[in-house]
Amino acid sequence: MSRSLEQVDLIIVGGGMVGMAAACALKDSGLHVVVVERSEPVVRKSLGRDCRVSAIVMGNVQILQGMGVWEYIKDVGPMHAMRIWDDQRPGGIRFDAGEIGENALGYLVENSKLQAAMIKVAHLSDSINICCPAVIDSVQWHSDCVEVHLDDGRGFRTPLIVGADGAHSWLRQQADVGIYSHDYGQKGIVATVRPQMPHHGVAFQRFLATGPLAMLPMSDGLCSIVWSAADEEADRLMKLDDLAFLEYLNLTFGPVLGRIEEVGKRAAFPLVARLARHLVRHRLALIGDAAHTIHPLAGLGVNLGLRDAMVLAQEIVDAKRFKEDWGELDVLNRYMQQRLPDILTLLASMEGFHQLFTHNWPGLPELRGLGMRVIGNSGPIKQILMRNTAGLNLPVPKKIS
Ligand SMILES: Cc1cc2nc3c(=O)[nH]c(=O)nc-3n(C[C@H](O)[C@H](O)[C@H](O)COP(=O)(O)OP(=O)(O)OC[C@H]3O[C@@H](n4cnc5c(N)ncnc54)[C@H](O)[C@@H]3O)c2cc1C
Repeated sequence: MSRSLEQVDLIIVGGGMVGMAAACALKDSGLHVVVVERSEPVVRKSLGRDCRVSAIVMGNVQILQGMGVWEYIKDVGPMHAMRIWDDQRPGGIRFDAGEIGENALGYLVENSKLQAAMIKVAHLSDSINICCPAVIDSVQWHSDCVEVHLDDGRGFRTPLIVGADGAHSWLRQQADVGIYSHDYGQKGIVATVRPQMPHHGVAFQRFLATGPLAMLPMSDGLCSIVWSAADEEADRLMKLDDLAFLEYLNLTFGPVLGRIEEVGKRAAFPLVARLARHLVRHRLALIGDAAHTIHPLAGLGVNLGLRDAMVLAQEIVDAKRFKEDWGELDVLNRYMQQRLPDILTLLASMEGFHQLFTHNWPGLPELRGLGMRVIGNSGPIKQILMRNTAGLNLPVPKKIS
């Protein structure tokens, strides 16, 4: 049986945005990469656009440019500024890309378009083989390799297997890696909407007592909403017909963009923070949602995953260069050590923001207002915060070298 196994350099389970990013990052490395993806992408349209969108921050746009992926993505909406305000207090805070010498803080990209661009780049490479639709029937970890059998009869032997198969990662479970998790008891409702007035590339985030409501600028004057609400409230909102939903959305968001005139199909996602108890094991690395999920209030989940993909890819390439075995824990620990500070900081800050804005203990609204004013007027501190959030200051390679 083992004679029929094909020797490859890396197997990535999951061909979503993060798994494909890891593959594309390695396209010029000379390594033979296999991606196992269980299904073709399913796109849920809302006013003609994918209802799943991601705000890709500027640092990660540079990563996608370096991979040759960005040039294949059309119809992106630049985010020139972001305005955040609190339901309970006047004022708020505004972040302008110009303050950090950039034209945009990031871009709003439909997930399916980003994934399609990555698949295109992968297909142009001789060294990336996408097995889709396919799932793994069995995976066996040995001291010197991992053996993998697919449901279509193919079999591979590899030094390293990477789990990029999402929040409910099958591979993570096979490796018996548990997770820490915190269910927010909320769902995030997403949809495309058409406001009456132009958004001028400004992203709006309104913090409500029930959770944040984001209005993110897309191309053609459309916006994508991410409305986080407690489970019961989210279920109620999902059951409303379009007219009633629009009415409630207008009441909640306010007149900043005139009336919100049209809403497309809605979808709702349970919001759970997760962190795998181990990001690496012998001959296993977890990346993207398989490793961690965070509250979407800052729109940073896939951004974290893209950075995982880049750091892991660079460690693999370096290991190859120095004739190390990239499935060994020594190499994989380097990936983990570089990624944990970024992941833990974001998990903790999302948790902090969530607590800060969903409670109304005496004095807390005033404290939030003060916090926003202090950051808004803090000059250099604000710039550091913006550069970090935009992924411009982080120790992540923009291109694999
Ligand atoms: C409401 C909402 C809004 C969000 N907004 C943003 C945002 O603005 N910006 C941002 O950065 N992030 C955002 N996120 C987070 C972002 O969507 C996720 O972090 C991102 O999709 C994770 O990508 P991934 O490739 O790791 O996982 P996934 O997208 O889940 O991809 C996993 C892939 O693995 C495949 N797969 C699963 N199991 C198997 C198996 N056994 N075998 C083979 N293949 C398998 C799946 O088919 C899928 O293609 C948001 C999340 C939510 C819920």
